[in-house]
Amino acid sequence: MNRPFNFSAGPAAIPEEVLRQAAAEMLDWHGSGMGVMEMSHRGKEFIAIYEQAEADLRELLAVPPEFRILFMQGGGVAENAIVPMNLSRAATVDFVVTGAWSQKSRKEALKYAAEVHTAASGEDSHFTSIPDPASWQLSRGASYVHLCSNETIHGVEFHELPDLRALGSDAPLVVDFSSNVASRPVDWSRVGLAFGGAQKNLGPAGLTLVVVREDLLGHALPICPSAFDYAIVAEHRSMYNTPPTWGIYIAGLTFQWLLRQREGEATGIAAMERRNIAKAERLYGYIDQSQFYVNQVAPHCRSRMNIPFLLRDEARNDAFLAGARERGLLQLKGHKSVGGMRASLYNAMPMEGVEALIAYMREFEQHHA
Ligand SMILES: *Cc1c(COP(=O)(O)O)cnc(C)c1O
Repeated sequence: MNRPFNFSAGPAAIPEEVLRQAAAEMLDWHGSGMGVMEMSHRGKEFIAIYEQAEADLRELLAVPPEFRILFMQGGGVAENAIVPMNLSRAATVDFVVTGAWSQKSRKEALKYAAEVHTAASGEDSHFTSIPDPASWQLSRGASYVHLCSNETIHGVEFHELPDLRALGSDAPLVVDFSSNVASRPVDWSRVGLAFGGAQKNLGPAGLTLVVVREDLLGHALPICPSAFDYAIVAEHRSMYNTPPTWGIYIAGLTFQWLLRQREGEATGIAAMERRNIAKAERLYGYIDQSQFYVNQVAPHCRSRMNIPFLLRDEARNDAFLAGARERGLLQLKGHKSVGGMRASLYNAMPMEGVEALIAYMREFEQHHA
């Protein structure tokens, strides 16, 4: 069976090998007589799944020992509240606004932080560019600085995380990496906390990953729900309440799939990164040489994961999408705030999917130009 290529921005395609393994183990996990969804989260079977997933993720993303890995619920949107409830200490929080997601995070933080300061914004450019870090107006004594490392809607990505100390700020950096987690290595020396929903690159919706430096734990505001207090979650190894067991299991299978990837001499995340660079270059290269399609994001911050593009003649959008669906190219419609198309090229999208998309785009252009 040949599955279509699914370009969804999220929930998104999951590697076929992972889906097949999960299907094979659905009714009976490793001879236990139970499926993973039916197991006690405190039983030895699930504890083994959990410990393996955590260890594999630590290896995969080279997470240093001073960081704790938390498997939570609530998604990226809940983290917009959970982060300020845990880290703001009722002081000023700095925001770098580079698109719809960081804008949304900023708005939610207004409820919890004593003051929210916009240190930089790409709004003037309609979020087609990231302001140069040298121009950011960082506050003195901020409790943290928030940014979104990949803006899923606007297709804008940080290709290097800022070194806040070099920019004159002592604040920890908080990164929303929901849509580029595990697509590239993370420079943990520049990060205080990173969070992401699983449904873009790690597995099903319902699991939220938080990686937090230990010294940031234990400062939650009194209003913070216990189940969302990072110190409590860390102390209970993500089992203060029932964790999203199915999500952890599928993410665990995905981590193992990622660890098996090879590209030349590169393995794991390095292999994945090479492949993601190649896929994105191929699609941007095609769009840029075309008179028919256009991507408006500045080349220095174009996302490898989410590639929005417009047809110069917007009247052809519906025909483009219908033809794509017929050819097994799914979920290419752009976000309503940007319009046009969006091709999400997460880890599970092979180069063949990108080639199939380009072949279709070329054919469509030839018919309609
Ligand atoms: C998808 C996404 C979110 C939202 O995640 P939910 O699971 O819907 O809460 C947050 N931030 C970014 C960057 C995203 O791509």
